[in-house]
Parts: sequence; structure tokens; C-alpha cells
Amino acid sequence: MRIILLLLLCLLTQVSMSGQGTFIPKHLDSVLQYLQNIHHFNGTVLYAENGKIQYKKALGVEDFRTGKPLNTHSAFNLASLSKQFFAMGILILTEQRKLHLDDHIQQYLPELPYPDITIQHLLQHTSGLPEYFDLFTLYKEALDTLTNEGLIQLYADKKPPLEFAPGERWAYCNTNYVLISAIIERVSGMNAATFMDKNIIKPLGLKDTYIYHLRMPEVPENHVVGYREENGGSWLHDLINVDGVTGDGNMYSSVEDLWTWEQSWYTEKLVKKSTLELALKPCILKDGKTAPYGFGWGIVKPGEMYQHTGGWNGFANIICRDVKNKRCLVVLNSNGSGMYIPLVQAIFEHKPYKLPRTTLITNVQVIDGTGIPARAASVRVMDETIEAVGQLKPYPGETVVDGQGKVLAPGFIDTHSHLAGSTEDYPEALAALNQGVTTIVSGQDGYGSWIDSIQAQFARKPIAINIATYTGQTALREMVMGGSDQLKRSATQQEIDQMKVILRNEMKKGSLGLSTGLEYAGAYFSTHDEVIQLAKVTAEEKGRYISHLRSEDIALKEAISEIIEIGRQAKLPVQISHFKIALKDDWGTAPQLLAWLESARTEGIDITADCYPYVFWNSTMKVLFPKTDYNNPVSAQYAVDHTFDPAQSIVPRFAANPVYAGKTISEIAALRQETPAQTLMGLIAEADAYEAAHPDATGIEAILGKSMLEEDVANILAWAHTNICSDGANGGHPRGYGSFTRVLGMYVREQKIMSLETAIQKMTSLAAAHVGIANRGILAPGYAADLVLFDPATVKDNASVQNPRALSDGILKVWVNGHCVYEDQKATKWYPGKFVGRKE
Ligand SMILES: [Zn+2]
Repeated sequence: MRIILLLLLCLLTQVSMSGQGTFIPKHLDSVLQYLQNIHHFNGTVLYAENGKIQYKKALGVEDFRTGKPLNTHSAFNLASLSKQFFAMGILILTEQRKLHLDDHIQQYLPELPYPDITIQHLLQHTSGLPEYFDLFTLYKEALDTLTNEGLIQLYADKKPPLEFAPGERWAYCNTNYVLISAIIERVSGMNAATFMDKNIIKPLGLKDTYIYHLRMPEVPENHVVGYREENGGSWLHDLINVDGVTGDGNMYSSVEDLWTWEQSWYTEKLVKKSTLELALKPCILKDGKTAPYGFGWGIVKPGEMYQHTGGWNGFANIICRDVKNKRCLVVLNSNGSGMYIPLVQAIFEHKPYKLPRTTLITNVQVIDGTGIPARAASVRVMDETIEAVGQLKPYPGETVVDGQGKVLAPGFIDTHSHLAGSTEDYPEALAALNQGVTTIVSGQDGYGSWIDSIQAQFARKPIAINIATYTGQTALREMVMGGSDQLKRSATQQEIDQMKVILRNEMKKGSLGLSTGLEYAGAYFSTHDEVIQLAKVTAEEKGRYISHLRSEDIALKEAISEIIEIGRQAKLPVQISHFKIALKDDWGTAPQLLAWLESARTEGIDITADCYPYVFWNSTMKVLFPKTDYNNPVSAQYAVDHTFDPAQSIVPRFAANPVYAGKTISEIAALRQETPAQTLMGLIAEADAYEAAHPDATGIEAILGKSMLEEDVANILAWAHTNICSDGANGGHPRGYGSFTRVLGMYVREQKIMSLETAIQKMTSLAAAHVGIANRGILAPGYAADLVLFDPATVKDNASVQNPRALSDGILKVWVNGHCVYEDQKATKWYPGKFVGRKE
């Protein structure tokens, strides 16, 4: 895909450099026509070279309610393009010797409490004044319309402080130009409309240009109405209650008049050349640095290229001047989309561009991830983003995918995954895609990679799915304290301080927060205080805490108390990873534990959980010895009696004696003529000996430990604050390939423990909210186009202990960032996955 794109860019570049003449008109025409077809342009365009119009066209309607067609004399709200007209007003008054650019504005607006601001500060956006929209919203009465004098009164009364001293910085601000207009009115003794008419519009012979605002009684001819197109419909999107002001906007004009206006900048029809030059110079700040802005003109290249855009509600406009080659481009649009702007800028500047691509998915039941009921609709995807959801008709030539009445949902987010490690070898990530997962959350249980290395992996080898990550506490300990054999102690304060620096750095690069695996040897010896200190750094960076608890069996309650305490003390959201009740004595207590978590939530602690839908786990046999006393027969017997069922717990691999692979602990015990407790100790000792002899070996032993009760799993899955995860990898435990489809098939369709909409919510928006991912997990315009199309009647997991990589049924298509990556149980070999950072 990247190669094709590159080729396309090269071709475009070559063509565009091959010459002038009809090239620009041809490209403008095809781009604007295409954008009009996909409802991203409704406007007019004019392009001229050397004083001659090479191309002009009107595409669309003046008023979407009547369908009256546009023409090149139609007058649009220029929005911020108005500013150059008002700047000219000031220049005219300076030539009339009625004011000077370095006059203090208090000379003309004595009510204002800003003694250091000059007229030039206003013209160049260096005044430091705050924007008026927020101020007006704060103090307006319901039916107020803001006027220039009203704005002056507001600033005089409320005296909002400056954001910086005048001349110190450049910051675009509309207030500046409303004050410019007010000064013009007070100095000239005319209202802005009369002043413009007399001094600019009549002298230049402009026919379609006027000031219009909400206080004006009559709507002129050829007046364009702003609107917006959304989800297949059109809505008025025009002037609002701030639009009694002039100066920053509310000048109306046509492309024809704007070209006449632009041409006048080569003449002395309005002011002298030397005065015009003042308006086109970069502004100079107090410290001598410059900003690329003149008086109402952006400076692309001093002396050669000038530009300004203007956007207000439905209107999105641009004017480009190439003074060196005497070229001019004006484009005005009234349907709220600014998508055309970078494209016409690129064409004007002979740069490559890429047209947006849309796909329409029709005939689907949309379950949008928020929990609301399914609804029949179509979904349009544009490039990487969802563009519209509703009753949508295909655009001419648009790719259409018929969803055949099946369910379309946001791509699933797996909040606890161990798949990232295999994506270098298996970039198609079938384990995720076959169950509808489009984003995995890595860095779990205290482990994981540094963000730089994840980013480097994406650069080296693109993959099919998105990856987000936490920063692991154990990884931090290893980095600071040394290898895994150094971790059987608590960290010193100096070591904790070093960890905090690395953690903060990872947070700044987009880590979701801190993960711990307190049950594992690498973190078990860390103190509660170490975790709290790291969690506080995470909280300062607006991250989250996620934890494989210190115990999932004999000390589960203490472990839950610990995570609640972390949430309370560090004041950040905390999530229990793969929540389970693994002590036989506690089976059936899910309702009580969940009530406890609810009471913590009532207290204000944002505690949540994820859960995978299986009654057996996959880990090392050592987790069965919480005190790490692996050769203590009492502990071994305790494990057999209380924390797992040896007759139902399978050893999937055992490097020291591969004969055992696939057998239960009870079966292996029978082979060895031992009790299960003796076997457990024996296997751990043999695995340790094997590891000592083969220091580079990994995954030497594992156990699929049956230790949960079906009823507890169902209760935990159904809790309102539980989202679904897999805790899976590319093989091993079947959860790696089947968790999400197992919930949809077994728990939703067969056992009906929750509705389909609720299950989808737990796989999408709730998951995104629990880990802090923005813009994914909801099927709505503006969200990333990660989608899954599935058949709710047939969806089910097929992965099993015997065949952990068996693909699910019923997942029909999966899209990641707008690209179809999975179809008919096959990867399409597109790799559009991205690194997903923390939402701010
Ligand atoms: Zn874990």
C-alpha cells in the first residue's frame, strides 16, 4: 500500500512540474468536481494568471433550501478573508492622516483598559487580547446579539487580562479585527458598511461585495446561505448571535470581486504602493523574531506568495496570491467542509496531493458501541475515518460493500493482550482479527516494550492491527535494578526515583499508564509504597493504573484492598486485570466482591475490571506457590486442595520432558506414580534445572489451571464496569483466538447473560474508556474506521486446548483504519495498524 502511494505521489509530482497552461485549471476542476460529488464542496472558484482568468466555475447551490444554483457572482461570507478589507480601511485612514499605525488604541477607544496596545498590534495579532467568543458566551443574555460597541463595553466592564504583553508574541485573535472595525467607525464617523462602500467597494467597482450582519434588515440578492452536510442530511449553519460584529468577518463577496480586489493590490487605486508594502511585511516581535503575518495576509514567502483562509460555520474560503508569477486563486465554499483547502493549496503551489477515498457499507445493523439498540443504517468511511452514519446513498463511482443485513460494530479493543510479541513474525495478527479485535493493549502484568521500540517495529514492519501500551513496573525494575535475578527485594528510594523518570518519559511518549504484575516474582517484593509512588507520577501525567493483582487466590481480598488503596492515594483510575476468583473456598462470592468494588466507586474511586470468558488460566506453575516456596510440600498440597483442579489442569508444554505436554497434572502424577502435589514440586524443580542448563530458553513450562467457577465468570463479565479482554497470545490458551467470539456466541446468544449491544459496548467504548483511548470504540462520524462485520446468528469461537489457533465462525469482515484487513477467515495482507497513544 505504501509503495503504491509513493508511486502515485511521484507521478503527480512529475506531472505538476511539467508546466503551466492548462495544468492548474484541469486539476482544480477535477478535484473540486470530485469533492462536490462526495458532498465536500459547494462553492465557486476562480484562477487567474498575468491578469487573465484561466478558469472559473460555480459548483452547487446558493441556498440549499431552494436549490437556486450558484454563479461566480454569488456572495459568500468571507469570514476571515474580511480582515484584509478592514486592514485596508485603516491604511486609507492613515493616508487621510486621520490616524497613525503606532497610535495607542486608547486614543480612539478610551473605555478599554489596555494602555500599551497600538493599532499595528491589532493588525498583526500581537496585542495579547483574549478571544471574544468565550467571554461573550459567559456573559450574554439569551437573546443578545453582539455588536462592535457591545464588544468594547464587554471588555471595558470585565477587563479580561491580556494573554501576553503587546508585541511579545504572535497569536491569531478575532477580537483584534473587531476593534479595528470599531476604530474605523469612530474615526470616520460612519458605520463600517458605509465606510467600506464609499472607500473600497465603489472606487474598485465591486458589484457583489457588501457587509452583512444580523442587525441588517434585508438580505441582498446573490446571498449565499451557509449549511452543513451530515449523515446524509443538510442543515442551516450560518450566522449566529455573535454576528452583529464586523471586522473579523461578515464581509460578503464573490470570486469575481475578490479577483478585482486582488488585482488592485498591484495598483494605487486605494492607497500608495509604499503603504501597501507595509501590509505585506512579516511582523517583527519585541525580541526581534518575525512572524509570517502582515495586515490581514499570511506570508508564505515574503515578496512572493501570500495567502489567507477564512472559516465560519458553513463557510470555508481561501485566497492565494503568487506575486512573483502574477497568479491568483480564490475559492469560496458554503457547505462547512474545509477538505478542499489543502488540496487547492497543493495544486497552486505545484505540490503533490492525494484525493480522499470513500467506501459505503450498506444494509447493516449498526451497533455503535455506546450500548444503544441496533439500528438499520449505512456507514460511510473516508480514508481512515468514519464519515457518516445514516440513510446514505452511494456517490457516483463509490465503492459499495453490501453488509447483507449483518451487524456492523466498532472494531473490538482487547485491553489485556500478549499478542504484540508475535506481530513481528505474524504481522497479519490473525489471533486478533479472527475474533474482531482491531486494537490490542500491550505492556501488561508489569512487562512490555518501550514505546520507542514499538514505534521502531511499526516503522520496520507494518502490521494489521493497532497497538496501545502501558509501561510495566517490572520492566522499570529490571531497567534500574538489573536482570530478573536482582528483583527479589524492595527497591531503594534512589532506584524508585530513577524509575519515575523513565516512567514519566514513557507517559509523555503516549503510554496509557502504569501496569503491574504484583503476583510475579519480578514485582512481588516491591513495596506498596513503591507502587504508590509510581502511580502518583502516572496520575500527574493523566495516565491510568492496571494490575495483575498481588494474589488471585489465597490473598485475593488483600490484593483488592491494595488496588483500591492505590486508586485512593494516587488519585487515578485503576483497573483489575483479568479479574477472577481462583480460590475454591471463595467460589460463588463474585456478587459480594463486586458489591465491594461498587462501594469503592461510590466513594469516588474509579475502579474497573477486564475479564476473559474461560474458567481456566494460563501461566507458570509457580503462581500456584504464592509464597514462592516451590519445594514446600504443605504449600503444594494447599494448591492442590484449594487453588486448582489437577484433574482438569493441562500442561500444554514442558521442555524438560516433552512427553508431558498435553497431559493433566493428575495424568502426569499417575505416570510418575506420585501425588499431584509431589508432581507439582517435581515439575518446577525439573523446569528450573532445565532453565539453568539452557539460559536462553523461554517458555519452558506452562499450565492451563482450572480454578474458576462458571457462575463467577458470568457474574464478573456482566458487571457494568467490566470490559472484555483476552489475556491471550498467538497460541497456548485458546483465549488468544477465541475470547471475544466466545462471549458473543456462548454468553450472549446461548446463555443470554447480557444483550448483544451491552456485550459490544464492553468490547468497544467501555474498553476504550477503561484504558484511556480516544477516537476509537464508537461507530460515529469522526471516529477511526476500525470496524467489524459479523453474523450474530453464527458467531462463535472454535479455539480449544487441542487446537488453540482454530479461527472463529461468523466474523465476516474486519477493517482497521479504513482498510479491510480480514475477510472470509483470511487476512487480506493489508497492514494499516498504528501505534495508539494515550488520550489527553
Ligand atoms: Zn496477567
